[in-house]
Amino acid sequence: MSTAIGRRRYLTNFEHHRLPHLFTDVLVIGSGVAGLQAALQAADHADVLLVTKDRLDASASSWAQGGIAAATGPGDSADRHARDTLEVACGLGHEAIIRGVTSEAPSIIAQLVASGARFDAQGATFEAGQEGGHSAPRIIHAADATGREVVRVLIDQARQHPRIRLFEKCFTIDLLSNNGQVVGAVTYSPKYGHQMFWATTTILATGGCGRVYRETTNPPVATGDGLAMALRAGAILRDMEMVQFHPTTLYVAGAARELISEAVRGDGAYLVDRAGRRFMHDHDPRGELAPRDVVSRAIAAEMKLQHEPCVYLDVRHFAPGHFAERFPNLDRLCRQFDIHPERDLIPVRPSMHYLVGGVVVDESGQTNVPGLLACGEVTSTGLHGANRLASNSLLEGLIFGARCGRLAARRAAGAERLSRPLPIGHVLPHSPRTELDLGDVLNSLISLMSRNVAVERSGDRLRETLEIISFWSRYVMDKVFDEPREWETQNMLTVALLIATSAATRTESRGVHFRTDFPATDPAWQRHIDLCRMDDTIQVSTTPLPEAGS
Ligand SMILES: Cc1cc2nc3c(=O)[nH]c(=O)nc-3n(C[C@H](O)[C@H](O)[C@H](O)COP(=O)(O)OP(=O)(O)OC[C@H]3O[C@@H](n4cnc5c(N)ncnc54)[C@H](O)[C@@H]3O)c2cc1C
Repeated sequence: MSTAIGRRRYLTNFEHHRLPHLFTDVLVIGSGVAGLQAALQAADHADVLLVTKDRLDASASSWAQGGIAAATGPGDSADRHARDTLEVACGLGHEAIIRGVTSEAPSIIAQLVASGARFDAQGATFEAGQEGGHSAPRIIHAADATGREVVRVLIDQARQHPRIRLFEKCFTIDLLSNNGQVVGAVTYSPKYGHQMFWATTTILATGGCGRVYRETTNPPVATGDGLAMALRAGAILRDMEMVQFHPTTLYVAGAARELISEAVRGDGAYLVDRAGRRFMHDHDPRGELAPRDVVSRAIAAEMKLQHEPCVYLDVRHFAPGHFAERFPNLDRLCRQFDIHPERDLIPVRPSMHYLVGGVVVDESGQTNVPGLLACGEVTSTGLHGANRLASNSLLEGLIFGARCGRLAARRAAGAERLSRPLPIGHVLPHSPRTELDLGDVLNSLISLMSRNVAVERSGDRLRETLEIISFWSRYVMDKVFDEPREWETQNMLTVALLIATSAATRTESRGVHFRTDFPATDPAWQRHIDLCRMDDTIQVSTTPLPEAGS
């Protein structure tokens, strides 16, 4: 497929002899749990620079509510956790990766506790919550602000570490390549303008891309920059059609699409229609605790059937005070909009929540591009397959962040750090075409994605989406812009194209990907869809799963 997107290697013009340079062993891009954990592990043996495009705590990680999955309770085991994860992954999970992660989960929790994280517990026993798709209560949480607590601990440690330097409000525009190897990144900050960071190893931890959709739970930083810059640098991206929608986000005009945690259903909330009728058991015997894709599709079906813009969460049967005590932030949020959960129904609908696909990495976080590691939501590790089990993503970010950090530190020990800039530059002539209202392009893009590439997809809608994105790309991608918002828009167009391309390619329904024109799962499609940029085009191919156990 030839596109204007495939032709771009760098989004910005830069000349190495005109810019300031910084040199380090390890460059980490992103300050969510994955990036912070990678920085901390690497810094035990190497010098680390961490750049992040907003404040340190502006991340999906900080917004995570429900918790971290880990089999710590009596009667539970890593093996059960692995089996639940494999089942939800719908045939695309990598068993060896899943078993490795679920076995490591309890020790990650122990490390966080040792570092000062405070999780809800009775004495030495965690108050583990239950979430959809888990066969045991194993969600370790800190009230309904687990991410904030974990990020607090990691940021404290990073700030105090003598070998970590932190750069906030530093937007990474592109990864730098030299002879096919990533050697750092070119960044922009309002204070210093363009800068070049040179590193023996670069770790991409830029999170997801929820902002490509109009309805999303993700924070403003989630614009898919890392996915797009990895593509431009030659990385393979996998299963980009696998986009998880959270079934229950607050649906109030004027409010952000705040997530109403799955833990609320775990605690016994009902999903009801406007008349108060529980409908989940009409769709799945697991009722409200069915996996997210099932619940999202059931809600979408009910909304369509009843011509309603939302359904409702009902917690009115909870013991008096329980909701406010267990979910204090959600209770506050509802009350801001004059919704009193003990008395009122809470209006909800599905929103884009999590990118299951991403940059392909091996068990250590190595991508196919030398010099580039990646961890967290930006990656496809094989843990989630075609669907993510709730509360497995903080876990994945923490575990793979640590693995990346350790690998980068080992490499730093065996390599000589660059001390002079390489002669890399990029100059694209100015496009003669007309000025653009990029805000309008962005609004149109997020509407298009929400309309055509959301919970349900079909071949004709996907073809229409690809035609429109390709058309917009022709006059957006040929330009050189100067501001983060503009580079973000180019990145979002890129990511949208990848999602729609993969969704059009997968002519079956599996996990979070549902095709109305191919509603069944096709065993022949138990394969990954890989995308990469080659010869100025986006190439699509399929890859079989690794042998079980490998
Ligand atoms: C509302 C909400 C609730 C959630 N609840 C849970 C939960 O309970 N349990 C669970 O397991 N998961 C949960 N998730 C998912 C989970 O939070 C994320 O998958 C995970 O935190 C991703 O971590 P990360 O480190 O990969 O990315 P993030 O935490 O998103 O961090 C990405 C970082 O990269 C930076 N960045 C991005 N682009 C650039 C750029 N161009 N230049 C420089 N920096 C850049 C960002 O500023 C940010 O610091 C939730 C997600 C949301 C949105």
